[in-house]
Amino acid sequence: MEYKLDFKTYSDTLRKNKLMGLHCKECKNFTCPPKMTCQECGGLDLEIVQLKGTGKIMTFTHTFVAPLGREAEAPYIVVLVELDEGPWIAGNLIDVAPDKVGMELIGKRVRLGHKVYPGDIYSAGPAARPLFSFA
Ligand SMILES: [Zn+2]
Repeated sequence: MEYKLDFKTYSDTLRKNKLMGLHCKECKNFTCPPKMTCQECGGLDLEIVQLKGTGKIMTFTHTFVAPLGREAEAPYIVVLVELDEGPWIAGNLIDVAPDKVGMELIGKRVRLGHKVYPGDIYSAGPAARPLFSFA
């Protein structure tokens, strides 16, 4: 079994602020970030589609201890966003002072950007990750 949309392609298109996902021809739901099968029904009949990159914050967390090599980035906010197409994806939230925000973030509209993070001893090198700002 192969990935219809592999992580390298997903990361490369994210560098152009394009969010790619998978549309299931069986149940009509969307999967993002990419997985081998539809995240809703496990179906394999998937097509690669571009998602709008907009959605709303469902939950968030303050991060005070960053991963190895990224200590200078803390503190920051990680949000879980429900995309307009349905899937939830995680990313950092910019344009806020982490020590000044709280529950008012829930439900706020955001749009996708990206940031290229350096690789570390656990990864295959630099990769783009979702970054959100208020819509
Ligand atoms: Zn499905």
